[in-house]
Amino acid sequence: MHNIAPPFHLPHPLPDPPGIPEPVDQPYCGVLHLAVDATDVDRGIFRVRETIPVTGAGELVLLYPKWLPGFHAPQAPIELFAGLCVHAGGRDLRWRRHPVTVNAFAIDVPDGVDAIEAEFQFLSPTDPAQGRVLCTPDMLCLPWNTSVLYPAGHYARGIMVDASLTIPPGWQAAGALAVLDHADGTIRFERTALDTLVDSPVLAGRHVRREALDDQVSLTIVADEPHLLGATPEQIDAHRAVVEQADRLFRSRPFDRFEMLLALSETLTGVGIEHHRSFEAVSIPGYFRDWGDNAARRDTVPHEYVHSWNGKHRRGADSWTPCFEKPIRNSLMWVYEGQTQYWTHILSARSGLARSPLPPRATMFAPAAAGVPPSTRPAIPSSPPALLFPGRAGSAARIITPKGRSSGSMSTRGCANCPGTPARWTISPASSLPPRRGTGRPTPMNSTRWSTR
Ligand SMILES: [Zn+2]
Repeated sequence: MHNIAPPFHLPHPLPDPPGIPEPVDQPYCGVLHLAVDATDVDRGIFRVRETIPVTGAGELVLLYPKWLPGFHAPQAPIELFAGLCVHAGGRDLRWRRHPVTVNAFAIDVPDGVDAIEAEFQFLSPTDPAQGRVLCTPDMLCLPWNTSVLYPAGHYARGIMVDASLTIPPGWQAAGALAVLDHADGTIRFERTALDTLVDSPVLAGRHVRREALDDQVSLTIVADEPHLLGATPEQIDAHRAVVEQADRLFRSRPFDRFEMLLALSETLTGVGIEHHRSFEAVSIPGYFRDWGDNAARRDTVPHEYVHSWNGKHRRGADSWTPCFEKPIRNSLMWVYEGQTQYWTHILSARSGLARSPLPPRATMFAPAAAGVPPSTRPAIPSSPPALLFPGRAGSAARIITPKGRSSGSMSTRGCANCPGTPARWTISPASSLPPRRGTGRPTPMNSTRWSTR
């Protein structure tokens, strides 16, 4: 056999361009100042001004968040990022987009400056065909990842941010971030780490109703029209019962406070996105008004609430990443979403919020589905979550696919899409959760992660 050199006239690849600096677990050199002006709600434009400290001259790479927890994929809308201008010391600075990583921007920082200033806009889609609609003339949702650049080379938890948000006059806002003050439409938030900031969206609007479900959990409702806020006491109580039943189920809380952010709109894109201390849920305008007709739409609240325990406080070890540039792996997605949807059925039925069709394994909770008052129902047994949709080894087991919207099956020997996925899982028992009044910060994954064996 002869070694034959490839013909020289065929194409050959160029070397890869230099990569993005790897993140290290060290604090960034200073605090980012992030100001988002979201008053242009008619056009859906968020205007951002950001000050980023630097330690000296040289190349600085800024990243637009790409891999987002809750989406499990690189779904950050870089196509809606616009108008980047960078200044320092009164001069405009040129920026260069990375030739491959299109959400990375390199800036040559000159001598003699201790910070650079970036200005840009986020353009909310105005039609669902363009992406997730985040803004209408009456409400907006601000996921902070849409409106921040961060320096490459650091863990997100090591980058501290002083953030502020300006909303239209007369609007109210809610979210999990602690507020320093609110004056002239501008809300200043307490200094927080970038990972917490991105995990703490803000919901704001012209027509707002706020209900305390208990001393730690609040429900904020924003609607297209004031009359859509007219929830009855019984309807609010059903949401309160979700919180009560989750306490009975999990027996502790992995957060210091929790904000249920519920938007009722025919314009915002319908969605449910989980966060550690809040969730975003966009539902139909008649969520309360047409209560008798939309029971099937009401499992979003318990589903996203359960994710605070299952998916945020605990998550698959390979789904945690140090910054938003690192790919999220989803080998335990079937637990992340499947187990959550299982408990969603349980909490929906026991709270009376919705009468979900219970999976076969949940027939022990039939009294709840039959409408037996919560006070007379048996306590939920704390059976190991590993019993979720079990099947015999090698047989098909039920699994809820991402976002819990459809079902499929997978072998208990492993997922066809994830060769090598083991059949046995170890999941931390509920008693290992921190005390009820947690810090609100995610527990280090090393101590709480799911592991395989
Ligand atoms: Zn989910």
